[in-house]
Parts: sequence; structure tokens; C-alpha cells
Amino acid sequence: MTSKVRFAPSPTGNIHIGNARTALINWIYAQQKNGEFILRFDDTDTARSKQEYADGILRDLSWLGIEPDQIEYQSKRTDSYRKITDDLISRGLLYACYETPEELDRKRKRLAARGKPPVYDRTGLKLTDEERTALEREGRQPHWRFVLPNYDSDPFAPKRTEIHWDDLVRGEQTVDLASISDPVLVRADGSWLYTLPSVIDDIEMGVTQIIRGDDHVTNTGVQLALFDVLGASAPQFGHHNLLTTASGEGLSKRLGSLSIQSLAEDSYEPMAVASLAVLIGAAGAVEAMPSMPALVERFDISAIGKSAAKFDMSELDSLNKKLVRDLEWSDVKDRFGDDIFAGNGSNFWPAIRENLEKVSEAEDWWQRIMDAEPVIDPEDRDYVGLAKEYLPPEPLDENAWKSWTDALKVPSGRKGKALFMPLRKALTGMDHGPDMAKILPIIGREKTMARLS
Ligand code: GLU
Repeated sequence: MTSKVRFAPSPTGNIHIGNARTALINWIYAQQKNGEFILRFDDTDTARSKQEYADGILRDLSWLGIEPDQIEYQSKRTDSYRKITDDLISRGLLYACYETPEELDRKRKRLAARGKPPVYDRTGLKLTDEERTALEREGRQPHWRFVLPNYDSDPFAPKRTEIHWDDLVRGEQTVDLASISDPVLVRADGSWLYTLPSVIDDIEMGVTQIIRGDDHVTNTGVQLALFDVLGASAPQFGHHNLLTTASGEGLSKRLGSLSIQSLAEDSYEPMAVASLAVLIGAAGAVEAMPSMPALVERFDISAIGKSAAKFDMSELDSLNKKLVRDLEWSDVKDRFGDDIFAGNGSNFWPAIRENLEKVSEAEDWWQRIMDAEPVIDPEDRDYVGLAKEYLPPEPLDENAWKSWTDALKVPSGRKGKALFMPLRKALTGMDHGPDMAKILPIIGREKTMARLS
């Protein structure tokens, strides 16, 4: 059977590196299995979902190199959800509840005070038709809970009911359905939480693997029970560990700096972001993979670890630097305008790339070098004057720097740093920077002579 996976974000904000991890792991898994990747917008929460966020997610995935094989919106599939919800209600598997959030909170606190787990007591299931009518007359709208199959014949006497699955990442998993509250599937305003639509979609779209964050492990217990009552065999599940910030906080859509959009705007290489997002928190070194096929080749879902992984910006910087160093002019030239580097990009790029953390910094270096104000220390003035006499004639090529400085050794009596540094400072105004052998031909003889004066 062909693999079909899905990435199911709620379009309620920009996706961050942690969401990208889920998307990439799914997409890579599909590539490894020659399968398909569905992008499914979990947008049943109509108040918070926005098309602009859905568009942003598509744009961010595309930046990372992901083009979905299929795109779905839950908001367009409500007929199916309605039908199945009605069916579950008529089978007595969904029941109406009327507690307000405050009442539920009070119940939880009372349980906690008695040292009990905060499991819902199924009050809604006890209500008679008359009681329900009376509550609705008070203006209350019901929300609907799924009665978990954790009892023999009396739902008010739940017993330990283990659900097992063999997780693609975590191995053998167990959730006890008696330890969970009956989940709310439909809100009082009639909208669905993602739990049931997700299962319906996974069945109707033929999803074969559900790969998502390990914050969903408990939900998987619930959803396996839903697959069962809907008469479907469940897909395989895989729960990957989550990313946290360097200080250990969970990532949230509000953390703008780690959004894919801001990383793209900050000129990070998509492959640096993708490599880190996928390889962090797993066995093996985090390396900068040069291309998606290489990352697909390298990735192993079973190597993902179980504890949370810290996302560290400095690790991203170092992967980015490594990738930039290996990029050729042909890889990057489209990112710059036509007139960039005075038409000398094929020479300037290899000269500068080792000094860059990001490709975009090349322009800055170009300006600094082209507009450099010579720096000549008083004690080097004579030496710099002498250097002028020994500068080789045009055209200056890659050997010019060596032959120039070699020729200066004897007449100046200088060597090492004393020989090179005054020339670097005169030519570039800086005491550090790219390899002078590569930069000298780019500065050219005329500018060099002027800077030595
Ligand atoms: N919309 C859910 C989420 O983003 C989807 C979970 C799932 O992949 O099933 O958490």
C-alpha cells in the first residue's frame, strides 16, 4: 500500500520551526516510501482560522522545499462531519453536556482536593430528556462528549482499559482510557474540535501514517477508540519529540523569531533550517545537508529521541555558515540583482563566501571593500610606499598577491604579519576579511595604487 501522510496545522498563526519539524518529517517519510503528502488545514475553529495564515503556511513550506501532493480544508468537509456526528449521537456514543468552563473548573478543583485525577464524571450522560430541555430553556447550548469505551456495562464504573500501539518512533505505547476524560468533540457553538474531523479525514483520505508531536500521545488513545467505533482500521502512529527554546520553553506561534517566515526574512538557507529541524533531537550528528534528497537519504524516523530537544540559534548559524561556504556562484547569483559586484560576482563570491554567515552579507562586504578608507599606521608608511613600487603590473591575477609580498620580503626586511597586515589594512581598511590573494585582483591595480598613497 502506498504511504499517505499528512501535516495538519491549524491556520491560526505563522508556523515555527517546531511545526516545520512535523511537516518535514512527514514529507521526508513520504519521499522515502514513494508516498504522498497531504497538507490538511485543521480550520474548524472558524473564529481563529484565517486564509492569510493558510497562504503563509503554503509559502513557508514551499520555501523549505515542500510542495504538497494534495491540499484539504476541514472547513469544506463539514457535511461529512455532520453526518458522522449525528450517527454517533444516535448510537449513544456522543452525549450532550451543559457545564460552563467555570463549573468544569470547580469540579476539577474538587477532585484535585481529594487527590483524584481530573477525569470528567459523565454528569451529562445521566441527564434525562426533561433535564436537558430545562437546561436549554435556561439558554445553555450543549457541547458533545464521546463516551470512551472504558467500562463493561455501566459507564459510571469505568475500569482500566489499555489501548496499545506500536509507535514508529516510541515503540510499544499504552494509554489507559479510564485515565482520560470523555473528550469534547463538538463545542457549544456547534463547531468541531480537531479530534473527530481528524479521524474522519484520515479514514476518508486513506492516510496510512499519522506522524505528529508527542503532545498528541494521549489523543492517540482517544482517536484509536474513534477509528474503532467508525469501523475503520487505524493508521500507524509515530510521535516525535518536541522542540523547545534554548531556555526550555515550548515553542508557540507567538514566538515570532522562530517562525519560518522570520528565518526566511533573516536570510537563513532553507536547507540549514530543514537540516536542523529534522536532525535535532535524534541519534547521530546534526549536519547541514546540502539538499532535500540528501536529507531524505540521511533521515531515519526510528532514530528520533523521546525527550524534548532544545533549539539553539547558534547551531542554526553554524549550519548556515557551513552551507554558505559550499555554495557556488551559480547557486546564489539569482538572489542578487544583475549589476551586482560590478559584474565580477564569479570572482568575488569564492573570495568572500568563507567570511559569511549568510549569503546576503556578501553585498555588505562588497561595499566595505569597494568603499574602504585605507588605514596606514605611521610606522608602516614607508613600507606601504615601498610596496607601491613592487605592485605587479596589470592584469592582477590570483598569484599577484604572493609574488608582490614575496618580492617585498628582502627590500623591506619584513615577514609574516608585519609583511601582510599593513597591506591588508591599506587596501581594505580592516585587519580581517577575505583572502587577499582573491581580493587583490578584484580591487584592481588602480584602486590599490590609490589606497597605498
Ligand atoms: N491540528 C492538529 C495540531 O496541529 C493536528 C494534530 C494531528 O496531526 O493529528 O496539533
